[in-house]
Amino acid sequence: MTPSSKGALVLFSGGQDSTVCLAWALERYDRVETVGFDYGQRHAAELTARLAVREAMAAAFPVWAMRLGDDHLLDIRAFGAIGETALTTDAAIEMTARGLPSTFVPGRNLVFLTYAAALADRRGLADLVGGMCETDYSGYPDCRRATLDALQDALRLGLDRDVAIVTPLMRRSKAETWAIAQGLGGEVLIKITVDHSHTCYRGGREPRHDWGVGCGECPACELRARGWATWVAEGRPAVIE
Ligand code: ZN
Repeated sequence: MTPSSKGALVLFSGGQDSTVCLAWALERYDRVETVGFDYGQRHAAELTARLAVREAMAAAFPVWAMRLGDDHLLDIRAFGAIGETALTTDAAIEMTARGLPSTFVPGRNLVFLTYAAALADRRGLADLVGGMCETDYSGYPDCRRATLDALQDALRLGLDRDVAIVTPLMRRSKAETWAIAQGLGGEVLIKITVDHSHTCYRGGREPRHDWGVGCGECPACELRARGWATWVAEGRPAVIE
């Protein structure tokens, strides 16, 4: 595959989905940079995972290493603070009815993508790549493709340039995400994803499971574990995109 010269900025949290998206982008674009957001997460595991995943991918895949450019970490703690100050109860690990931690701020992806679009403009990167998925996260209205289509239109008008929001996992299940990882980088990429990507809402890096590390009980861990179990039961298939 001849890589696109448009350049991509990957919204990279260090979780499973954005790890697979980063590999997906490195396979398709000749220039890939990553952006992460510090919105006052209570744990640093996510942010630490980002650098570990990048380093492991670059070490294991020389072609990807040549394409992988800078990482950017943007401080948007003022936005994260809205979630904290709006709480009326102690929300240590509380999950809302939508299956989200109660500290999550509504419209988070709209803010992330707007920051990412401004950064991509400055970096000369055309496409924004994100792991948003409406299959498993029906509770996240700002993850839906219809929302992102509207935001893409707004960004094109507001920036007066051809920006695209690319979401390779939008209609994929969590089992299919493992299959895409297998197709992109085989067992090596599976191992990098298991060992280094971080999904757990609680932020712990133990205990260790076949599918990675995490508490194993929060909604994020449950989703990841269930997707892994399905993928393994299917015989660890590979999806070639
Ligand atoms: Zn967990």
